[in-house]
Amino acid sequence: MSRVYNFSAGPSMLPLEVLEKAAAEMTEHGTSGQSVMEMSHRSKEYQAIIDNAEALVREIMHVPDNYMVLFLQGGASSQFSAIPMNIGTKNKKADYIITGQWAKKAADEAERYITVNRVASSADKTFSYIPTTDSSMFDPEADYCYICYNNTIYGTHYTENKLPDTKATLVADISSCVMAEEIDVTKFGILYAGAQKNLGPAGVTLVIVRNDLIGETLDGTPTMFKYSIHQKNGSMYNTPPTYGIYVLGLVLQWIKDKGGVRELQKINEKKAKLLYDFLDSSKMFKGTVVPEDRSLMNVPFVTGNDELDAKFVAEAKSNGFINIKGHRSVGGMRASIYNAMPLEGVEKLVEFMKKFEAENA
Ligand SMILES: *Cc1c(COP(=O)(O)O)cnc(C)c1O
Repeated sequence: MSRVYNFSAGPSMLPLEVLEKAAAEMTEHGTSGQSVMEMSHRSKEYQAIIDNAEALVREIMHVPDNYMVLFLQGGASSQFSAIPMNIGTKNKKADYIITGQWAKKAADEAERYITVNRVASSADKTFSYIPTTDSSMFDPEADYCYICYNNTIYGTHYTENKLPDTKATLVADISSCVMAEEIDVTKFGILYAGAQKNLGPAGVTLVIVRNDLIGETLDGTPTMFKYSIHQKNGSMYNTPPTYGIYVLGLVLQWIKDKGGVRELQKINEKKAKLLYDFLDSSKMFKGTVVPEDRSLMNVPFVTGNDELDAKFVAEAKSNGFINIKGHRSVGGMRASIYNAMPLEGVEKLVEFMKKFEAENA
């Protein structure tokens, strides 16, 4: 077996231990005589799998009892509509901070249903920073304020001191930083994440919602978009993505076994520092994000020369570092170094970059 270091932004690497466990249980889960894929979601065996996944989310993220934990489908993108439909109901207004394409898409989608106030944006500098805001910029009547906590494409990241100072309910897309660093759930009304970056295979979306936010929905809200329906039915109003939730449970157990988010965050900080320190010292490569807003998970960088970028991406690939090409809107390279990327993968990448720099100086 030869496994590459996969720097994909998502779907991305899963821990080898998780894949091996899933493989070992592929044809028979426990003593059930069947694979998880073949199980009725109404069975006692499956109920135990989804209950375990929920319990682990609560434990690992310290989710208080007054929040629901839902496993939904439709990707993070479906939440762009579900959020205004479920909580944009009082004054039908919300504040959005535009820190990249995902926040922009969320705002554009919400605008189909409610009034959207784009409070601040970093579009002027290709989203290479997190805009600073102050309380006077927020609408006191907004039903909620929306941010994208970690901007997967541009490699920026919120820190606590930049979180919006608003009285409105805070909503955050944490698709690309969930369980990679400690986040205080109680600061938020809704947190959500597509699984395919840091949690498991594509097809499951983790949605955490404070119970008191749920009531009326906007007229015409599809049943499948109502958080209340999913809560009442334990995320099984219809058939859930059964296998995805099972693998997610394995990833959560892996996180717990590693010492939880606190320990993973230390490793993630070490990995990111290694790469950023090299970028800051290199004469060839440079990071595209202002130092104070740099993501721990997604590290975009460029040489400033498109041909050299292309050569680097090709040589990286032939050396076992795949999916390191930058997003088409930024160009250059991007190394996504989620929880499952071992420190060794980043060390080897930096070694390879040094060698490439020396050979192409
Ligand atoms: C990947 C990503 C999305 C889109 O996720 P889908 O599950 O493909 O809809 C949304 N937001 C962020 C921050 C992402 O990284």
